[in-house]
Amino acid sequence: MELQQDYDVLIVGAGVAGMYGALNLPSDRRVLLLAKYALDVSSSNLAQGGVAAVLSFEDDSFELHIRDTMIAGRQANDRLAVETLVREGPDDVRRVMDFGADFDRNADGELDKTLEGGHCRRRIVHHRDCTGAELVRALSEEVRRRENVTLVENAAVLSLQKMPGGGFGALVNVGGGVFPVYAPFVLLATGGIGRVYRYTTNPRASTGDGVRLAWELGAFIKDLSWIQFHPTAFHSEDGEQFLISESVRGEGAYLLNCDRQRFMDRYDDRLELAPRDVVSRSIMLEEQRTGSSDFYLDITHEDAAFLRDRFPAINEGCLKHGVDFTKDLIPVYPCQHYLMGGIEVDLDSRTTVPGLYAAGECSNTGVHGKNRLASNSLLEALVFSRRAAASMAALFAAGRVKTPVHRCMKPNLTGKSVRPDLPERIRGIMQKSHFVLPDAKKAREGLAEITEILADLKTGDYALTVENTEALSLATVAYIVLKEAAAE
Ligand SMILES: Cc1cc2nc3c(=O)[nH]c(=O)nc-3n(C[C@H](O)[C@H](O)[C@H](O)COP(=O)(O)OP(=O)(O)OC[C@H]3O[C@@H](n4cnc5c(N)ncnc54)[C@H](O)[C@@H]3O)c2cc1C
Repeated sequence: MELQQDYDVLIVGAGVAGMYGALNLPSDRRVLLLAKYALDVSSSNLAQGGVAAVLSFEDDSFELHIRDTMIAGRQANDRLAVETLVREGPDDVRRVMDFGADFDRNADGELDKTLEGGHCRRRIVHHRDCTGAELVRALSEEVRRRENVTLVENAAVLSLQKMPGGGFGALVNVGGGVFPVYAPFVLLATGGIGRVYRYTTNPRASTGDGVRLAWELGAFIKDLSWIQFHPTAFHSEDGEQFLISESVRGEGAYLLNCDRQRFMDRYDDRLELAPRDVVSRSIMLEEQRTGSSDFYLDITHEDAAFLRDRFPAINEGCLKHGVDFTKDLIPVYPCQHYLMGGIEVDLDSRTTVPGLYAAGECSNTGVHGKNRLASNSLLEALVFSRRAAASMAALFAAGRVKTPVHRCMKPNLTGKSVRPDLPERIRGIMQKSHFVLPDAKKAREGLAEITEILADLKTGDYALTVENTEALSLATVAYIVLKEAAAE
């Protein structure tokens, strides 16, 4: 497949942030929206728990949601960004419902709101336990109705360059060829960096390409070492860890140690409903205390029919591993889950490079502080991709946008390939150098190894391929994370 060369906006990534950004751009602007793999290979598509938003005020308020977000973030959040998220988010949630997203309702037809760790009120709307897939369905159907948006799957942006006089040129791998594309604005919406770890809930697209592309353009990257480790991934040897959502604890599950005993009271008064960083740390400390990495979730005391209906995807995932969670304990262990830091952006999602925007998990809006409150990230993806689109729309309306001059961007198509085991080597380094309990000495040791790997990738004669650029993204992300962690 060949792409046209000129667009008004190039959106790199078609998860919730990329798609909702596209839907908020003016209908007379040509938008190219790219997904590196199939559309369902995104964190958005995997999101289980739901979207947090204050949609009614009987027993909830913006102040309470702001307070919960700041407490979870250990007050390291940007207060203005949190207020923007919480106050504007409900309208975006209503908008995606207008686009056809179907959230569960109770017998009276009202939205069925659930509770997750760190929230003091039931304010999370959800579609059973597959909210993200429902959002992706609704948004992608709306995107395909828009004539001004060209959505291309299996299209990876390999490199991004500034063009003389403004705007950007990108080299895109699609259909086995590499093609140039030009646009005055680029929105990076490439999701997380989970694949830099061996154990992560993130899909294979999450190699941190957006962070690497922004870094190469000189954009400021902030707090990349602020990584959230989810306390309760299903404990198996699979690379992509299957998540046992927070809402299972919200519905009453107990966390047990190797002796099948609850232990959270040793570490936090909020017990199983403490924020996820606290629960993850508690598990690691309990492991040090008992010497065992065996941990379990127990929800067998709840009604089996209710559990199967409320958590169909979790039920199916557990059964695949031979566990019937209505009768058996679920083996769990922490794993990488979410990136709080990222490409530094302002409230309009502008990076420090003019014309370059970032939204969703690859960006750092400051809303999450040191720890994301559950179900705030889909909300962040909606609010701040819409704000990015509004900022670009205002510049188009003001007539201040120039079409980029084309400059020849010659890809290296004949160079060598990276060693197939390189990504796994990088993952091994990250797993031992920066996992749950920070350790500056280990980070320094890891950094020395990664620095060598990165130097080789940058100076060696490597071809511009998806595999090579993904390895480069992993090494770049690992380098920035460990450099930060080593300095702490
Ligand atoms: C298992 C799981 C459960 C979760 N549950 C929840 C939840 O209940 N509530 C909540 O709020 N959050 C949840 N999260 C987090 C949330 O899903 C993500 O933070 C959010 O969906 C990120 O959206 P995004 O659009 O930024 O990125 P993604 O949805 O990951 O999309 C990234 C897109 O970028 C594309 N891409 C990447 N690199 C390139 C490239 N080089 N060229 C072209 N395209 C590229 C990918 O193909 C993909 O289309 C969960 C995450 C996971 C993994």
